[in-house]
Amino acid sequence: MAEQNEKIYLLSLLPSELEEFMLSIGEPKYRATQIFTQMHKGVSPNEMTNIGKATKAKLEEVAVFDLPTVRKKLVSKLDGTVKYLFELIDGNCVESVVMKYKHGNTICISSQVGCRMGCAFCASTIGGKVRDLRPSEIIGQVIKASADMNERISNIVMMGIGEPLDNYDNVLKFLRLVGCEQGLNIGYRHISLSTCGLCDKIDALANEEFPITLSISLHASDDETRSSIMPVNKKWNIDRLLSSCKNYYAKTGRRISFEYTLIAGKNDSKEAALRLATLLNSRLRDRNANEPFPIHVNLIPVNPVSETEFSASDKKAVALFAQTLEKKGIRATVRRTLGADINASCGQLRRAEENNKA
Ligand code: SAH
Repeated sequence: MAEQNEKIYLLSLLPSELEEFMLSIGEPKYRATQIFTQMHKGVSPNEMTNIGKATKAKLEEVAVFDLPTVRKKLVSKLDGTVKYLFELIDGNCVESVVMKYKHGNTICISSQVGCRMGCAFCASTIGGKVRDLRPSEIIGQVIKASADMNERISNIVMMGIGEPLDNYDNVLKFLRLVGCEQGLNIGYRHISLSTCGLCDKIDALANEEFPITLSISLHASDDETRSSIMPVNKKWNIDRLLSSCKNYYAKTGRRISFEYTLIAGKNDSKEAALRLATLLNSRLRDRNANEPFPIHVNLIPVNPVSETEFSASDKKAVALFAQTLEKKGIRATVRRTLGADINASCGQLRRAEENNKA
């Protein structure tokens, strides 16, 4: 008898793999495209009208359609942002957020259940990492949200729960799946990935065929401060991280943005801003290059998490930080907070659910 873990996760299969799989269970190859397209619209094989009972029974026996289900859904009255708490087939939960912009819908998705990176200000890492998401569960969030809202999702940010580069192979497979013409067909220019800075993986990604946009969670302009809030910095320090950024840009030509969470009294002084500007200008901008490295910093006042003691910088400090960067030629934007009334920042809804269970 096949064990659960030997089962085939249908949403993790590329069209060519699904063809092979259909052949292996004695079904014609052409069925694969029909099934692939419908599954990627959120229809389970069991609901499909163009496949017979016998095929459904065979699929049920050896394969799993593990689209997540909606455990909770919150809709912002302020801006229409939708936050989902999705339940996976083993009962674990992850969060996704759909933001509505003029240019289309953007979804922020999770890559792991929990996280093992240990950033001091982040809710997702509090209980550690439970497990990696499968490719099917990563793309499943996009498929389910789109089907539930009955709207197309045109942009993806991998900025939810988990460290995507700590689940590298599954994330890469997801990128292949989401770009398939027979499915969601979302191009790499519409995808960005946020990382706390796993340099070996950033270097590996630079050599792949996916020129996606990177967001680097920097959050400090000196190693001492960064190591005190982000343990990953002890392994890959700021200098090493900026080398990987430079290499990524050189190889892919894709812009990189930096995330900087402003924490009162920790990393939000004018000196810190000046140091950040000097650091980025000196390490990334090559005066002799034809095209200067496009540097963009997103400033995000920290979202207080009940289990941590950090509080957000006040408006004055945020404005001064932004101005200081701009004066040194670094574009800085203070992040617009979407879904402020539904606590849309990641990890907190899952935490609340876990605490309820306990
Ligand atoms: N692991 C990845 C992606 C998930 S976190 C990464 O580290 O980039 C997504 C972004 O939210 C990161 O920039 C992260 O540092 C930031 N973040 C986490 N907790 C936050 C909080 N309480 N307030 C503001 N930003 C936070």
